[in-house]
Amino acid sequence: MINPTRLLERFQEFVAVDNASKNEAALCAKIRETLAALGIASSEDDSAAKIGGTSGNLYAYVEGSRPLAPLLFSAHMDSVAPACGKKAVFHPDGTITSDATTVLGADDLSGVCVILEALTSIRESGAAHRPIELLFDAAEETYCAGIQQFDFSRLRSKEAYIFDLTGPVGSAAYQAPSILSFCAEFHGRAAHAAFSPESGIHAIKAAANAVSSIECGHVADTTVNIGTIRGGSADNVVPEHCIVTGEVRSFEAASARQQLLHIRERFAAAAADAGAQMNFRDDTLCLAYKVGTEEPVANRFRAACKQVGLSGHLVSTYVGSDNNHFFHHGLRGLVVASGMNNCHSCGEYTSTAELLRAAELAQALMLSEE
Ligand SMILES: [Zn+2]
Repeated sequence: MINPTRLLERFQEFVAVDNASKNEAALCAKIRETLAALGIASSEDDSAAKIGGTSGNLYAYVEGSRPLAPLLFSAHMDSVAPACGKKAVFHPDGTITSDATTVLGADDLSGVCVILEALTSIRESGAAHRPIELLFDAAEETYCAGIQQFDFSRLRSKEAYIFDLTGPVGSAAYQAPSILSFCAEFHGRAAHAAFSPESGIHAIKAAANAVSSIECGHVADTTVNIGTIRGGSADNVVPEHCIVTGEVRSFEAASARQQLLHIRERFAAAAADAGAQMNFRDDTLCLAYKVGTEEPVANRFRAACKQVGLSGHLVSTYVGSDNNHFFHHGLRGLVVASGMNNCHSCGEYTSTAELLRAAELAQALMLSEE
């Protein structure tokens, strides 16, 4: 029932649309057109203005012909930069890449296209199906800015399949970490580096001591990273300012928070030792979640995979996604591999076979009878 030609043509067409984060209006219009052609009404919420973008989140409810609970299918409309001037290049071995000057945008146009193809194929065949809820959100790549504005009370589904995972089709993520970012600003005192260095307070040295006082990498059940450091103004000035940023991740929300507090304490101590001031800010980018591997959402996924000849493998992921937000709004969701590899790089690729398998999987989920 899945039509490979239609799927690949739509993928090629959607890839050619510029869809940088907060600039998804053209892609949103294409999805709406596709749904309208299937007789499905969709509505865009008012989040565009709230996030300073061109598109809101696109929602649709597809009535079912079976009296079963609805399932939510979701994918994000934006792609990470460079996402303008994209072009899908089809290679003889079935691989699909960009022309190497942009990302391909399989993250997450693979998800968008396989959901649309599954739906189109079901509509075309007239097969009986359960109610299906659709959510195509904006600005996922900017820490889920779009979905955070969505009115979750509109959702009727309890189970969600978010087609937005890298790796082989047939795998899905059931847990993802909390991600906390931090920014520490060290304020020292400027002085001439030769005339009166003793009257200065060296902000870079204070920051360096702070950084060297913590562990990076895998630390207990967390990961810690210092990502950027910048400061100073000239080689002949004792630096007045230094800013250090980093992040902490853990599958245990409490551990991530505890690790962050530990870093903050160490940084404060290093600043105090140097006589510098320190201002520490942190932000919760994602909250950890874990869906049980024997819950209905996972059982349905494995059954659908089996039906279409896929492994049905559940994995942990270290990246956040919309699913972190769905989970904390009461849905049980899996992040499903949709046929994307080497994401967030110009070497991103997918393949015709993987897109096809992902569409078959989406269809099997939509047609599931339990
Ligand atoms: Zn993605």
